[in-house]
Amino acid sequence: MTERSTQPAPTDHERECPDCGLFQRIPRLPPNGEANCLRCDATLRRTRVRSFDKTLALSLTSLVLYWVAVTAPFLSVDIVGRQRETTMLSLPVAFWEEGAWELALIVGVTAIIMPLVKIGVMVAVMVGLRTANPPRSLPLMFKWYRRVGPWAMVEVFLLGVFVAFTRLGAIATVDVGIALYAVAALMMTMVAADYYLDDDEIWHAMEARGLVPPAEIGPGTPIGCDVCGRVHYGQDGDRCTRCDSVVRSRKPNSIVNTWALLAASALLYIPANAFPVMTITRLGKGNESTILGGAQELLDAGMWPLALLVFVASIMVPLLKLFSMSVMLMTAQRGSSWRLHDRTVVFRLVDFIGRWSMIDIFMMATLVGLVRAGAIASITPGLGAICFGSVVVLTMFAVTCFDPRVMWDRAEARDAARNDPNTLLPRENRPAPLPAEPRAA
Ligand SMILES: [Zn+2]
Ligand SMILES: [Zn+2]
Repeated sequence: MTERSTQPAPTDHERECPDCGLFQRIPRLPPNGEANCLRCDATLRRTRVRSFDKTLALSLTSLVLYWVAVTAPFLSVDIVGRQRETTMLSLPVAFWEEGAWELALIVGVTAIIMPLVKIGVMVAVMVGLRTANPPRSLPLMFKWYRRVGPWAMVEVFLLGVFVAFTRLGAIATVDVGIALYAVAALMMTMVAADYYLDDDEIWHAMEARGLVPPAEIGPGTPIGCDVCGRVHYGQDGDRCTRCDSVVRSRKPNSIVNTWALLAASALLYIPANAFPVMTITRLGKGNESTILGGAQELLDAGMWPLALLVFVASIMVPLLKLFSMSVMLMTAQRGSSWRLHDRTVVFRLVDFIGRWSMIDIFMMATLVGLVRAGAIASITPGLGAICFGSVVVLTMFAVTCFDPRVMWDRAEARDAARNDPNTLLPRENRPAPLPAEPRAA
């Protein structure tokens, strides 16, 4: 659905593919249409029917559900006659009280704060655009919707709670509170809001209301804004005229930064698996459990689909991420053009699945938050859990730091060098460079 741009177009119909860096012009799309990159198939734009109304309705519903989710009773357990009721907020608090502030921070941010930011931003933008005098800050707010998106993990949280729920069966009687149903519904409304959202329609509405200036063609090179997608004419380090983000043709020091983050995660992956992630104390007897041990326990209890889920999400996904990111970095450094398209698809996949490794962290948060009956039954987080949480966060940062366009740039540069016979000649035999064009004084 896209056409290769031959001349620079001064409108927002021009787009730089975020995955391969090809500049393309997006044609007028039919409702529910989709424009994909000509070279790597990345989705450049999707249109939706009545996107505005649906997104507003879904965001308002999400806000109500969120409020129920964090205030209503979440889960309650009965351990030998001792009742304990929790809310969602008590999960990070339990980590905090057990001294694992890193995990408290991760769970608090990804399960509680980021979903609220995401919903709040969308409601503010959608309602703001319908007022007579929309606030000038709407464009700045809207850019945060996509920025915080990957860190709002309601769906992963829900799956983690589900795994915890099945593991708790052996220790205590668990009752589901209304908040858990609210989280399940919230997950669906948030996914649907994402699906119906048409970013460009919102940007165009803001332009029509005078909140952002129209796109302009100017001197300088075209650079696609990583955050809002507008093509900016100028130089590296300018600010986007639409969302005010710093525009860069490529992420700075992408390869070095990604290597550093990958190396740190690879180092932490060892203690994450070697040390216990939690200690389950029952009737005064402590029993330490590692990630692999947890999966084994589920398998022994006959719950093999969950055992498989935990094994894949906690052990395979981080390993796969470390391995495939390393391959991408090495091939990018060599300027290899081997399976460029496939490597780009793998990058998108790694970006998508990375967050699912958080299942184990959310499962532990639920267990630690619920089972707090001292010597009778209690679950405390271990060093392995802190290392594991860090691995997940660091690999997510590594994916964000990596710029897949570098793979295409370097492969192109190497191909060009190969096809240019001059580069094969020894330096002294190459023809002298042409003199620069004389300029009028
Ligand atoms: Zn592309
Ligand atoms: Zn922008």
